[in-house]
Amino acid sequence: MYIETPEKQYDLVVIGGGMVGTSFACALCSEIGGKQLSILVVEAFPQSAGKAQQPSFDARSTALSYGSRCIYDDIGLWRELSNQVTPIKEIHVSDKGHFGLTRLNHIEHDVEALGYVVENRQLGSVLNNEVKNSPAIQMISPAQVEQIRPTSESMQLAISRGESIFTIEASLVVLAEGGKSMICDQLGIDRVVDDYNQHALIANIAFEKPHKNVAYERFTDTGPLAILPLESFDGENRGCLVWTVATNQSDEIQAMGISALTKLLMDRFGNRLGKITHIGERFGYPLTLSIAKEQIRPGLVLLGNVAHTLHPVAGQGLNLALRDTMVLVSRLGQAVRESESLGSMTVLQDYVDRQNFDQQKTITFTDQLTRIFSNNQRGRVLARKLGLLSIELIPPLRRGFAEQAMGLGSR
Ligand SMILES: Cc1cc2nc3c(=O)[nH]c(=O)nc-3n(C[C@H](O)[C@H](O)[C@H](O)COP(=O)(O)OP(=O)(O)OC[C@H]3O[C@@H](n4cnc5c(N)ncnc54)[C@H](O)[C@@H]3O)c2cc1C
Repeated sequence: MYIETPEKQYDLVVIGGGMVGTSFACALCSEIGGKQLSILVVEAFPQSAGKAQQPSFDARSTALSYGSRCIYDDIGLWRELSNQVTPIKEIHVSDKGHFGLTRLNHIEHDVEALGYVVENRQLGSVLNNEVKNSPAIQMISPAQVEQIRPTSESMQLAISRGESIFTIEASLVVLAEGGKSMICDQLGIDRVVDDYNQHALIANIAFEKPHKNVAYERFTDTGPLAILPLESFDGENRGCLVWTVATNQSDEIQAMGISALTKLLMDRFGNRLGKITHIGERFGYPLTLSIAKEQIRPGLVLLGNVAHTLHPVAGQGLNLALRDTMVLVSRLGQAVRESESLGSMTVLQDYVDRQNFDQQKTITFTDQLTRIFSNNQRGRVLARKLGLLSIELIPPLRRGFAEQAMGLGSR
């Protein structure tokens, strides 16, 4: 439920009501039945915010893996989400100007779909509605956590809302503040940052022919280009473009006239879906690999982009954060049942230990894919030719690649 004024004391406070913070709050309620913990979510942007205001729920679309579908199913949100998603039945990976092509199909992997594309605003609306209607979760928005201070027994938080400042206490703070974290800076939590010198250019785009639920990932001389299938709207065959370009090309491409951009895209993507008939508003996102050096402290755990921000090439950022969420929620549920303190290092270290393998594997998979497929040096071109061919030809490799893409690689 939405509130105007917070109480003085909570068991758990989530800083950031983006995709990860709200998913976590919903998952925790589902795990513990909702009645035994007091939970507050603090979000800086208004929930009724219009276009592209709240960073998590802007104009982008997200490819949810099959594993994430199972997670949303487990926490009772899939039924509502399933009306808003476009299934990915086939993934088509190719390399412009070079041989080597691989296709992954849902039938081969015995699932209804390899993944699902959801528009971030629609995912946001489902998550926010769930929070709003849940008596167990309080949400205050717009409100900003200005500072957190560890005390001997809990965390003290200063929250600003308009002219008011509230001081509250929590046993555990879940920091889901996104990639630019003021709180981490205050606490001296450093990050390892590797700038890819690339931007992701995003736009909704329409084609002459229907996509038939195929997602395309194409590696081009300017960087990986993905077209994710979207439901058609107003008779248009829509897809979502996620195009990685070098930072120094980003402004030029964003400012390009429609016909020049259409030509450039057709040249990179080819004629698979016929002519491009419409290109919507364009947005650019700088891309880095950014990993927090500490994910936990007594009474504090980092979740989502604040813990690890990944390149979108493999669509793994939110999917990994959802798997982290479920492992954390399961450990917190155990702590509640066994009357352990939620913020104790035993509980939090257990979570980190359980998720470490998945995090390392996903980060490495994404980083290597980015580097191999964003580079036209002869060695890298050869590596990806062989990579695509071997994925196509060697069943265990193919299965491994598909499982990672489907969010099942940690099993
Ligand atoms: C172009 C692009 C495409 C992507 N595609 C995919 C994909 O297909 N699949 C996938 O799995 N992932 C994808 N990702 C990654 C995914 O978008 C991120 O992993 C996800 O958005 C992280 O969500 P978050 O909640 O951690 O952070 P954010 O989305 O940044 O949300 C943080 C929230 O915290 C709030 N906040 C910040 N500071 C405070 C404060 N002090 N007090 C209160 N509130 C605060 C902000 O207002 C915001 O709402 C993509 C990323 C990009 C850039």
